[in-house]
Amino acid sequence: MEDRVELIRANMAKAQAQIEAACSRVNRPVNGVRLVVVTKSQPIETVRAAVRAGATLLGENYPEESLAKIEDLRGEAVEWHMIGHLQSRKAKIVTDHFAMLQSLDSLSLAEKLERRLAETGKKLPVLLEVNVSGEESKFGLPCWDADNQAVFFLTVEDILRLPHLEMRGLMTMPPLDEDPEHVRPFFRRVKQLQMKLQDRYPQCRWDELSMGTSMDYAVAVEEGATLVRLGTAIVGPRIYKTP
Ligand SMILES: *Cc1c(COP(=O)(O)O)cnc(C)c1O
Repeated sequence: MEDRVELIRANMAKAQAQIEAACSRVNRPVNGVRLVVVTKSQPIETVRAAVRAGATLLGENYPEESLAKIEDLRGEAVEWHMIGHLQSRKAKIVTDHFAMLQSLDSLSLAEKLERRLAETGKKLPVLLEVNVSGEESKFGLPCWDADNQAVFFLTVEDILRLPHLEMRGLMTMPPLDEDPEHVRPFFRRVKQLQMKLQDRYPQCRWDELSMGTSMDYAVAVEEGATLVRLGTAIVGPRIYKTP
């Protein structure tokens, strides 16, 4: 256990140094980026070790898998962020246990969340997951050309009418590529989309950009990420598969 805590602590320090270096390269303040430690498909011991190593933001993809972890770590000062595709029928798990949904990707899911939140009176901070690459297999609202952006803006307007969802910004998961420079244009598109949204819908903050994983977070930070989602770089390879 102690070894694992020390290893995770060292990995977090390394990532933090990379984040700060990336901020310096583009003259961003070094405290404008938060690290989400992605604990999906990791055993509970690893999640505990991450928390002991100082992780305060934890990202999970599978609602059922996360429940046992959330239960185990109740009382710890950690925030849980849902970063994976969420099926409407599991919306309640997120409204009841998560601090943020980073992967809001449809109006129907937003409406389901709104109904549950209205019952409890809680508000849920959300990010819209956007697909700016045009890759068919990815989740996220299609936003890669003018036609689907027009549709996207209509969806945004409908979502902004839901009073219990607190719109905070955008999230993206670009196509995997060994070379982070190949991914840079997609991060840049998300930044441009954020600026359009800030212009069109100034009633909300749009200030969070969740982009960058273990492979490409330095580039994502250079392009404006405020949240980076790191799994393997912090806690090592995922050890089991969930559907
Ligand atoms: C798994 C996952 C990550 C983390 O990926 P790593 O390559 O392990 O850093 C980040 N974001 C999402 C949406 C994920 O599913």
